Amino acid sequence: MPRFRLPALAALFCVLPLASAFAQKTYLHCGRLLDMRAGKAQTQTEMTIVVEKGRVVAVQSGYTAGSGTEVVIDLKNKTVLPGLIDCHVHLEGETSKDGFLKELTENPADVAFGSLDHARKTLLAGFTTVRDLGGSGVNVALRNAINRGQVTGPRIFTAGKAISGTGGHMDPTNGYRQDLMGMPGPVDGVANGPDQCRQAVREQYKRGSDLIKIASTGGVLSVAKDGSSAQMTEDEIKAVVETARDLGLQVACHAHGAEGMKRAIRAGVVSIEHGTLMDDETMKLMKKFGTWYVPTITAGKSVADSARIPNYYPPLVTPKALAIGPKLQGTFGRAYKAGVKIAFGTDASVYRHGVNALEFQYMVEAGMPAYEALRAATASAAELLGQSDNLGTLEAGKLADVVAVDGDPTQDIKVMQRVRFVMKQGVVYRQE
Ligand SMILES: [Zn+2]
Repeated sequence: MPRFRLPALAALFCVLPLASAFAQKTYLHCGRLLDMRAGKAQTQTEMTIVVEKGRVVAVQSGYTAGSGTEVVIDLKNKTVLPGLIDCHVHLEGETSKDGFLKELTENPADVAFGSLDHARKTLLAGFTTVRDLGGSGVNVALRNAINRGQVTGPRIFTAGKAISGTGGHMDPTNGYRQDLMGMPGPVDGVANGPDQCRQAVREQYKRGSDLIKIASTGGVLSVAKDGSSAQMTEDEIKAVVETARDLGLQVACHAHGAEGMKRAIRAGVVSIEHGTLMDDETMKLMKKFGTWYVPTITAGKSVADSARIPNYYPPLVTPKALAIGPKLQGTFGRAYKAGVKIAFGTDASVYRHGVNALEFQYMVEAGMPAYEALRAATASAAELLGQSDNLGTLEAGKLADVVAVDGDPTQDIKVMQRVRFVMKQGVVYRQE
């Protein structure tokens, strides 16, 4: 039977898919398999995943093969998992010392070309799906280009431009000279009062966003004094959630302070992002409403590290980064113990793209078992996205998003930082 083997060097330089497996069946021989299905034995050995037309058509015991015309991929010395999902990234940008200046110097085309590199790195790190929680709108075009197969990147669910009030965390003019600020409004993601909130949501829907992102409290990286106070009224958040629901869109909510979180949870957002100063009452409320927590520990650690570099951030940002950033890991540990639903998310862009898997290590350090952390980035993340029919586990009928690592991540979670094999929808993008 013909065996398909790729030159090792191709993996290092490839931008385009290494091989299209659409034409024929592909058999993945998996030494160890974590299919992430609920209630299953965690690890199965010597398994075969059969892929056809971008989907898993069977998962079989032993190393099987078909009639002799199929592609066989040898992952016998690896652990195979579903493609990873990062529920909080921003593919348009990446942290740098001149980040605030770039807002004034980069054109949308510059942002677009930069985002290609971020998208490629994310996919090659094993993240086959991401939720992009806000940018200028280039993220919508990037999603479309990836879906058309024009560029390489993860499957994107994007929030387009995120929404908050004037001077709020998502006001794109914070900190700039007054004559440059203008009067950003709902079409720019700046909304005051329920009517403008409805308009802002409808604008994102019109532009092709897959979900809505709001900020109900201040944030670390906006050039504004307070990083945690409430910045949207409950009326405003309700208007966002109700309008989004009518349009079939979920709402993700950035929040650091407890009051802003509580308003958002009661209003029906699907997830709280960061959640830094979450108190016991907030955790209880999240369990009651079934709200997901997306912790972004990596971003917290990264902003604190960057803030220690002189003049890395504007003066208003530095103290917030030092105060808020280091708290995230502890909050995550408490939320996990309290039984809050957790989905994996990192805020990639606040740190460099492609090292998203660092988050696994931080989750395990904070007390989450490795297998649970892996579920947060697969089955749980798919549930948050409303994509459990397509993503998150390896079983017949799901999209063929598959990654593989050396060693056993349930024993050593750090192996997730060196993904050796990446398949997205049946197409191989990395094979080492
Ligand atoms: Zn973010």
